[in-house]
Amino acid sequence: MFRNFKTVSRVLFGRGSFIKMEEILREQRKAETDFAVFVVDDVFRGRPLQDRIPVAETDFLLWVNVDEEPTTDYVDALTDQIRRFNDALPCAVVGIGGGSTLDLAKAVSLMRTNPQSAADYQGWDLIQFPAVYHVGVPTLSGTGAEVSRTTVLIGPKRKLGINSDHTVFDQILLDPDLIASAPAPQRFYTGMDCYIHCVESLSGTYLNAFSRAYGEKALDLCREVFLAPDADADEKLMMASYFGGMSIVYSQVGVCHALSYGLSFVLGIHHGIGNCIVFNQLEAFYPEGVAEFRRMMDANGVILPEHRVSGVPADQLEKMIDVALTLDPLWENALGKDWKEVMTRERIRELYQRM
Ligand code: NAD
Ligand code: ZN
Repeated sequence: MFRNFKTVSRVLFGRGSFIKMEEILREQRKAETDFAVFVVDDVFRGRPLQDRIPVAETDFLLWVNVDEEPTTDYVDALTDQIRRFNDALPCAVVGIGGGSTLDLAKAVSLMRTNPQSAADYQGWDLIQFPAVYHVGVPTLSGTGAEVSRTTVLIGPKRKLGINSDHTVFDQILLDPDLIASAPAPQRFYTGMDCYIHCVESLSGTYLNAFSRAYGEKALDLCREVFLAPDADADEKLMMASYFGGMSIVYSQVGVCHALSYGLSFVLGIHHGIGNCIVFNQLEAFYPEGVAEFRRMMDANGVILPEHRVSGVPADQLEKMIDVALTLDPLWENALGKDWKEVMTRERIRELYQRM
């Protein structure tokens, strides 16, 4: 199977590089009326980063809240807000935040040029028109959202990405200074998203030399960051996230992500922590990865919440199983073409009940 995938066009990396944002946008501002939209995680409201965002007079600073993971309704509402601010197309959309905010920025840049609701584009290659030029600036590292061709959204029926070449950022700016303020547990959970991407990619049936090259490097960087951190840990974590994301563009994630999608759809558990809760129960599938993950938890003083699923009503549990079972490529990558013989509803139910 060949893939001719799109990658991010331009990458700026380095501590302090956020200062270059103004210059990057200057290239996009052609007419005096041109305006940029900054889609910024509201955790930064009133924090020093706010004053460093180069908001010009014509621009729109759009604070977004990611207490809940992004939904298609939220994307539609934000797109309307942008349209009401100025009905013309923005010259740029800039997302500043963690994976959720980067996904919101990707989604509104697509929705500003595509006529339907975001929910209508959940799936593969349904986007018709190129997005507004969009820039991603991560403030948390691990999801790989900065490099991926998807924006993961919770829609009316399921949690599924808008997967398209047009989703990919035109520019990313990776400034390790920006992830320094992340609370330690959140940094760990999001960092483990990257670790798990690598484990699932490297042990999957879709693996090839391209994915292995990126995955192995990202895995090594995660080990350095979470088992033997030094002064460059933030730089390393940013690159791990980027490489981990590159690894899965040509392979896939696996069992952990399939189950974790069910968890977040039904119980609203965020992706990073949800992955950790699931991965901790997957020794049967990833024995070495789970053992190392537990060493990383110990080294970072992380204690996972327990019994998040064991008491949920039966109908919710069945819905979780339904969501997990829709993710065929993830199961096939993890368990091969005959995965349905191995991964029955009963097996999934039994795994969920341990969480
Ligand atoms: P997040 O963006 O959901 O943020 C988690 C929390 O950290 C939020 O409360 C946020 O306000 C806060 N935060 C972010 N940066 C901070 C900083 N520097 N200082 C202080 N607080 C900060 O977390 P995430 O784990 O990066 O992203 C998870 C989301 O990414 C999920 O919605 C998931 O579906 C999505 N995701 C997308 C892809 C993709 O390829 N598009 C891949 C994996 C996950
Ligand atoms: Zn993930």
